[in-house]
Amino acid sequence: MTPMIVVISSPSGGGKTRITQRLVSDRLDCGYSVSATTRAPRPGEVDGVAYHFLSADAFERRVQNGEFAEHAVYNGNRYGTLTSELVKVMHGGQHAVLDIEVIGARQVRARFPDAVLVFVVPPTGAVLAKRLRDRATEPEAVVAGRLRRAIDEISAAVEYDYVVVNDEFELAVSAVNAILDAEARRTSRQRDFTVVLDRLRAEVGAELLRATSGH
Ligand code: 5GP
Repeated sequence: MTPMIVVISSPSGGGKTRITQRLVSDRLDCGYSVSATTRAPRPGEVDGVAYHFLSADAFERRVQNGEFAEHAVYNGNRYGTLTSELVKVMHGGQHAVLDIEVIGARQVRARFPDAVLVFVVPPTGAVLAKRLRDRATEPEAVVAGRLRRAIDEISAAVEYDYVVVNDEFELAVSAVNAILDAEARRTSRQRDFTVVLDRLRAEVGAELLRATSGH
C-alpha cells in the first residue's frame, strides 16, 4: 500500500469533520493530519489532538522556516498543515487525511499532484442552513456569514477530484470509503505492482508448461 494524501473539504456545516473523524476511526489505513492553528482552543479540544495550538509568532516563524505544506487564513485565524505531520502519518504507513478549507486544498493540489481531493456538499441550501442553525449557539449574523462563505466554497468544488453529497451521513461515509479503496488500487499507486505482475507471469508460464507437457 502506498500512502496517499486525502483532502476533505466542505462548506461549514457540510459535514467534513464528522466524515473525517469516521474515516480515521474506522480505517486502520487512515491517519488524521493534525493541523496547526492560531485560533483559541474550544472547550474540550486538546492540544496536539484537535490541533497544534500556536501563538501568532510561533505560527509565523514556522511559515518563515518553510515548515508548512499549506497554510491559509480563515475567519481571521491562521491554519496550516505541517509537513512533519504528513511525514509522520505517511511514514507510519497510513493515508494522511486532511480536513482543510479550499485555499489550503489548492496549495496541496499544486504541491502534491497525486493527492486525492474530496468535496462534501449538503443536499440543499435549506439543509445547510438548518444544520448551521441547529448546531450553532451563535447569532443569526454568524449563520449568515457562513452561508455567504459557503457560496464561494461551493464554487471551488469543481477543482476537486470527487464530490460527495452528504444527505444521509452513512451513505456519504460509504461513498468516501469507496473513493479511497478505488484510489488505493490505481496501478500508479501500487509500488510493488511490477513485482506482482512478474511473479504472476512466471506462475502462469509454469502452469502453461505443465498443461502442454501432458502432466
Ligand atoms: P475550525 O476553526 O472550525 O476548526 O476550522 C475552520 C476551518 O479551517 C475549517 O474549514 C477547517 O477545515 C479549516 N482548517 C482546519 N485545519 C486547516 C489547515 O491545516 N489548513 C487549512 N488550509 N485549513 C484548515
